[in-house]
Amino acid sequence: MKSFKCADMGKDCSWIAKADNLSELVEKIFRHAAISHNVKQIPVYRKYKIASSIKDV
Ligand SMILES: [Zn+2]
Repeated sequence: MKSFKCADMGKDCSWIAKADNLSELVEKIFRHAAISHNVKQIPVYRKYKIASSIKDV
């Protein structure tokens, strides 16, 4: 299982995502970014940061 903490992106946010696989998790992260942080387009350097913040649990 993969997990991701929004706080690891430097946001003041307690949102945590978990998913069975990476593509499902990334989808959840993008949806959360759009809904909660009004981020519609994620720049490439942010995607790398997201990728490095994802942990195996
Ligand atoms: Zn967040």
